[in-house]
Amino acid sequence: MSTLTDNYNAVSFRCEKAYVRSGRTDDMTLIAVSKTHPAADIATLYESGVRDFGENKVQELVDKYEQLPKDIRWHLIGHLQRNKVKYIIDKVCLIHSVDSLRLAEEISREAVKKDLTVDILLEVNVAGEESKFGIRPEEAQELAERIAALPGIRIRGLMTIAPFVEDAEDNRKYFAKLKQLSVDIMRKNTHNVSMDILSMGMTGDFEVAIEEGATLVRVGTAIFGARDYSI
Ligand SMILES: *Cc1c(COP(=O)(O)O)cnc(C)c1O
Repeated sequence: MSTLTDNYNAVSFRCEKAYVRSGRTDDMTLIAVSKTHPAADIATLYESGVRDFGENKVQELVDKYEQLPKDIRWHLIGHLQRNKVKYIIDKVCLIHSVDSLRLAEEISREAVKKDLTVDILLEVNVAGEESKFGIRPEEAQELAERIAALPGIRIRGLMTIAPFVEDAEDNRKYFAKLKQLSVDIMRKNTHNVSMDILSMGMTGDFEVAIEEGATLVRVGTAIFGARDYSI
């Protein structure tokens, strides 16, 4: 077995333990965040059965999509520009990073053109960090209602990128806040809005995120090793 597969299995095992600890019975899926890593690494994990991969750049996702098996579930987790929606709309299983009505409108337009229904998450900046994309928690309900009225697009839940911290416990409050927000939105029972997905938790804090209800965790470094942005 390759190191990569070992790493993946180790992370998956830690996810499983956190999941059991949480006493939850809903879904929980580990997404291998493969950004900056070569398609060959993805192929290695694919061979051992992994199907969910996360990319944050449109061009990179498209390149890898073309090289790899078509039953991979690609998650777009990075900021998405409106003019690039058309390149990925028919290639991704879920867009995690919708943070404006204008972006949702573009997704809707392209989806209708291609006769698709595209699943999306609203990206929420729960910690209120200046440097991060995402809407404020207070904006979520109204944005959800507006997007719900558009054709070809379906809100499945919420996503957040928590602050970079030394101690994962420091992010527990943000994960709990995102969970609570999803419960509040669900209670409003808005037509065409479901809140069954909660995308939160990365290498430094995925176990805490699972304890707080993450149904998708996005883990890169702990699986693939450190990223080299110089190449
Ligand atoms: C890169 C990235 C991750 C993975 O981060 P790691 O700390 O390497 O696990 C998760 N989510 C998003 C949105 C990312 O851009």
